[in-house]
Amino acid sequence: HPFPRTEFLTTVARLRDAPGDAVAEVAFVGRSNAGKSSAINTLAGKTRLAYVSKTPGRTQHLNYFSVAPDRYFVDLPGYGFAKAPQDVRKQWDGLLGPYLQTREQLKGLVIIMDIRRPLTEMDWQMLEWFAPTGRAVHVLLSKADKVSRQEQTKTLRQVKADLADLGCPVSVQLFSSLKRTGVAEAATVMKRWLGL
Ligand code: GDP
Repeated sequence: HPFPRTEFLTTVARLRDAPGDAVAEVAFVGRSNAGKSSAINTLAGKTRLAYVSKTPGRTQHLNYFSVAPDRYFVDLPGYGFAKAPQDVRKQWDGLLGPYLQTREQLKGLVIIMDIRRPLTEMDWQMLEWFAPTGRAVHVLLSKADKVSRQEQTKTLRQVKADLADLGCPVSVQLFSSLKRTGVAEAATVMKRWLGL
């Protein structure tokens, strides 16, 4: 497990309450049920760690995990409740947008997408809002174990092609929390962003 010292730190409802000592952080976002909590748990090697983000009162906030001194994972609200792009817009206008657009310490955004349903309308909305910041995006095509090898390769190639013109640095990879596929590849990107 690449981030064995990961611990839940705090839930942040207002941007000014985000940890002031942060040197670098990586944010995770995705549609509810895409496998975001499982991915964070897998990277940390702790089964229930990121499920704190799903407890009442925390689902619409930023959940901070310390991964190393002054280095953080930030679990962002899933797009779950959102039925339409306007709902994402509400989240965006509140905490999420200001966080993604102004947080200096944020080095890159990890977007988790179920490999069977990549690039949903709300994933695109997220990307369109975030790309102009010029910061890097890394896509985890999660639950890769659910499809054939051939399907994995095809979807990986397709998503890379679809994101080629986004205008910010983009990388895409296969990931499975169940089979632990792609963990080292993901960790390499995150450690680079975090300066570890
Ligand atoms: P979140 O809502 O994005 O945080 O998603 P979760 O991590 O809670 O995962 C949603 C569901 O997908 C759960 O039932 C997980 O067990 C399952 N799941 C997550 N990752 C994987 C994976 O890599 N492979 C498979 N087969 N199932 C997964």
